[in-house]
Amino acid sequence: MSSTPTLPRDSTPPNGPATTPAARAVAMTKVYGRSDTQVTALDSVDLDVGTGSFVAIMGPSGSGKSTLMHCLAGLDRPTSGRVFLGDVELAALSDRKLTLLRRERIGFVFQSFNLMPTLNAYENITLPSVLAGRRPDADWLDTVIDVVGLGDRLGHRPSELSGGQQQRVAVARALANEPEVIFADEPTGNLDQRSGDDVLGFLRHAVDRFGATIVMVTHDARAAAFADRVTFLVDGRVIDHLDDPTAPVVLDRLKTLEV
Ligand code: ADP
Ligand code: MG
Repeated sequence: MSSTPTLPRDSTPPNGPATTPAARAVAMTKVYGRSDTQVTALDSVDLDVGTGSFVAIMGPSGSGKSTLMHCLAGLDRPTSGRVFLGDVELAALSDRKLTLLRRERIGFVFQSFNLMPTLNAYENITLPSVLAGRRPDADWLDTVIDVVGLGDRLGHRPSELSGGQQQRVAVARALANEPEVIFADEPTGNLDQRSGDDVLGFLRHAVDRFGATIVMVTHDARAAAFADRVTFLVDGRVIDHLDDPTAPVVLDRLKTLEV
């Protein structure tokens, strides 16, 4: 094989001039319910996720982390404000176009793995491509499967795999379609520390080696330390960012949020 396949957007020079962020929110507000039972889950959030960066979103329970992720990923629509994936404004898309965009351009990793129980690991990994009517690039697929170390488990169904192995299938699935952004909501929440570190290591590797862009919600300072930047949410507002985070520094910052 000639060279390691990389995600297509790698054509962007890593240290080149500022480019369009992979994902962007401008004054994004999300209000649930109406009148007397209203909850402002997001309150005018501005956020840029740089292409090829790994961003962790942290904040107390109920601070809007999942809502932020869902609105950025086109799983939900904000009440007001603007959301972009690359240069595409999501509000301009019909529900059908939004579904296609999610399928073709976004990867997801969930806390509960969300694999199809009747499909084996290989079929789960290639399912998004099949749904998008694409044939995944064979070299790229080999690389992804190799990186997550699933070569000898491809014929196994989720029930025949450990939690850590299932999440590695989910990471491979997210990467297989060469998405522009991968969104991960508490991807290590159901894993022991060692399996969690493996999964985080693969996500980190995807950013460093393949130019992936990742937005990860976590409440775990150790997990956040794998990211390039931590963005802190409180009461639906972005209150701070921390670049090149380490677990102790993140922990200290979290303590100040929870008073
Ligand atoms: P986090 O992920 O940080 O725990 P969420 O984004 O899930 O926070 O929730 C933010 C706020 O929005 C919370 O007050 C939550 O109760 C509220 N909320 C979330 N989803 C809904 C919904 N579908 N309907 C009404 N309120 C919701
Ligand atoms: Mg949540």
